[in-house]
Amino acid sequence: MGDASPHAAAQDRRRIIFLGPPGAGKGTQAVQLAAFLEIPCISTGEMLRDAIARRTELGRKAEPIMALGGLVPDDLLLAMIQERIREKDCQRGYILDGFPRTLPQAQALEGLLSGDLSELVVFSMEVPRDELLRRLAGRQRHDDQGPAVHRRLSEYDERTVPLIDYFCGRTRFHRVDGHRDVEAVQHELRSLLAPR
Ligand code: AMP
Repeated sequence: MGDASPHAAAQDRRRIIFLGPPGAGKGTQAVQLAAFLEIPCISTGEMLRDAIARRTELGRKAEPIMALGGLVPDDLLLAMIQERIREKDCQRGYILDGFPRTLPQAQALEGLLSGDLSELVVFSMEVPRDELLRRLAGRQRHDDQGPAVHRRLSEYDERTVPLIDYFCGRTRFHRVDGHRDVEAVQHELRSLLAPR
């Protein structure tokens, strides 16, 4: 019986999105959750940093934008993510860390999912701004330093925050208090995914 229920089918193909400002702990939580669920964790920031290291055309275009803390153009992100989620390891589902970050990206993702957002799970990680700044100051990435940090935070406020309204009500949407121990947050994420 269990295997035939719609719920089991949905659990068989998990698609999870992490939203949140830089420093909210999305990457750490997404990697741990992906290992637990045995599905890939797709970080667009990591993919772009890898493209820069490999000196691909995408990397050359993205590098100066990322250095200033801006968002890489939607068309480049879409081509990259579309190719990635078609890979075989994504058949059982995936976690997206850092995508979508703009409304056009969210709409394009909806298209890739054939317009069905109902089984998508979105975690919006929330952390007070002063704590974000404290965490970012302690990281070594160059776009976590200087003016790039403020640009990244303002890109989040202006272009990513509207996605909260976009997803809320159309997906399984959860606000998660990220101002806690890594373990406590991970525990909550796993309970939120437990069968209802
Ligand atoms: P992250 O590692 O997720 O903080 O991403 C680092 C940087 O990569 C961001 O500041 C952006 O410049 C770029 N980036 C990552 N994901 C996206 C996205 N979905 N749209 C546009 N730019 C992105």
